[in-house]
Amino acid sequence: MSFNSQKILIVEDEPSLIFTLRDTLENEGYTVQISENGNLALEKLKDFMPDIMILDVMLPGMNGFDVCKKIRDQKLTFPIIILTARDQEIDKVTGLNIGADDYITKPFGVKELLARIQARLRRTDDYNNAKPDKLNLGDTELDLNSAVVRRSDGDFSLTTREVEVLWFLARFANEPVSREALLESVWRYEHSTNTRTVDVHISKLRSKIELHPEDPKYLVTLHGVGYMLKMKKAGM
Ligand code: CA
Repeated sequence: MSFNSQKILIVEDEPSLIFTLRDTLENEGYTVQISENGNLALEKLKDFMPDIMILDVMLPGMNGFDVCKKIRDQKLTFPIIILTARDQEIDKVTGLNIGADDYITKPFGVKELLARIQARLRRTDDYNNAKPDKLNLGDTELDLNSAVVRRSDGDFSLTTREVEVLWFLARFANEPVSREALLESVWRYEHSTNTRTVDVHISKLRSKIELHPEDPKYLVTLHGVGYMLKMKKAGM
């Protein structure tokens, strides 16, 4: 048995498939949780943020596509593999358009699903290794490689956590990002963190990257939504 700390959330309502998947994945060392419908899955994310989700389309209540869409609307970025019924080509297209990363057609062998999971988790690592070294906000340069902010009035050093927050906000530049999404991506829901943790870090970060933190130009608050990093994306 191999051990890893990676977490998988399976959203599926078919008892025999739940049993097989749980058994196989736990034997591979994954931490597995099950939700039998979409509402329970969305609720579960409040205390179990998975590294990857296996999501059935045909669920009681909300279908898998709607679950996927809600997750992506919240900027939660863990990979999602969708389980579709045989010959539902339309489902595959729909699934990939709404933010699923992969799909697998029922019936499938668990070994094949396992291979897809491993491939997808590796690809997530690739993303994590391909983060920008520098961001430019007007005259201010954020050198994320050396964790330094170069402003017209001096240099300020960034903490590792602040660099991670900036990476995530830059990935979704000019789009609203919720506190929950930051908690997921940057803090991984570590013990004793909550959305207040995010606010405190944003406030400190703002004092470093904004010339007028009380009237921020780049790292703005969207009331009732979260935060947004306003910047020109590469190539713009
Ligand atoms: Ca089902």
